[in-house]
Amino acid sequence: MTRDQILRAFDSIRVWRQGDRRAVHKPLLVLFALGKIGSGETAMLDWNDVEPCLKELLDEFGPDGSSKNRHNPFWHLRTDNLWALAGPPSILGRAPGATPTLTELRTNHVRGGFPAALHSALTRDPALVATIAQRIVEAHFPESIRSDVLTATGLSVEMSESTGHPGNVRRRDPVFREKVLLTYQYRCGVCGHDLRLGRQIIGLEAAHIKWFQANGPDIVPNGIALCSLHHKVFDLGAFTILPDTYEIAFSQHLNGSDDAAARMLAHHGAGLILPQSREYLPRPEFLYWHQKEVFKSPLRT
Ligand SMILES: [Zn+2]
Repeated sequence: MTRDQILRAFDSIRVWRQGDRRAVHKPLLVLFALGKIGSGETAMLDWNDVEPCLKELLDEFGPDGSSKNRHNPFWHLRTDNLWALAGPPSILGRAPGATPTLTELRTNHVRGGFPAALHSALTRDPALVATIAQRIVEAHFPESIRSDVLTATGLSVEMSESTGHPGNVRRRDPVFREKVLLTYQYRCGVCGHDLRLGRQIIGLEAAHIKWFQANGPDIVPNGIALCSLHHKVFDLGAFTILPDTYEIAFSQHLNGSDDAAARMLAHHGAGLILPQSREYLPRPEFLYWHQKEVFKSPLRT
């Protein structure tokens, strides 16, 4: 396989999609396997070693409850011709749709990994591994958490200019950020952060409520001005904004030392600092998407 063929093959991985729901199983498994390239491990990874890591990745970066189906990509990635499996014929001989159970994968020590030729091509070309990894995170995660995803999968990739993944060809509105910040009067909608150095705003960002990667539009009702910290924890699903009341609601999963947690949770139940005009209020359809696809339930009471 040439470099271009490999890139195209990864770009065209069939990702299970249902409307705008997030599908992160295959991308996270591929990133995890890419992270093993060059670490001296063999191409074929035992499901028993993959499982705890993949569960953690899905719990952290996937929609709520997605780790329940953590074994699906390990089995289904094979149909994209980028994945090989090894194990007893009683398991491997099954039809593509007959996914083995978690227990079957465990007790039979089913192994999976990139096919040998692909694995050695990737091992010889760390730059190619980095490019593939970057394209995958760009297609599936917002910028605020891409480096966290890469670090968690063991990849140390310097993010460069956009790699032109076909999933990213939709044009972005270059003035989205300016419009959102203006609407929120240049302060964080959660904590009111509006620090400036001279006239330069520091650490204030325009967050998408419904991610660009899930077809969220670049319009002000899909944006909130957030400081860097609140942007990141919003994209990780630590809090959401309730659609009816614009109340800030945190997840029961958020924890930390007394001071850190107290500072963050001081905003629980408070109202979002609203935009200047009602027409720019976050639209409920986007807030519902965030609650369903990003927020880590359950809500704190
Ligand atoms: Zn803030």
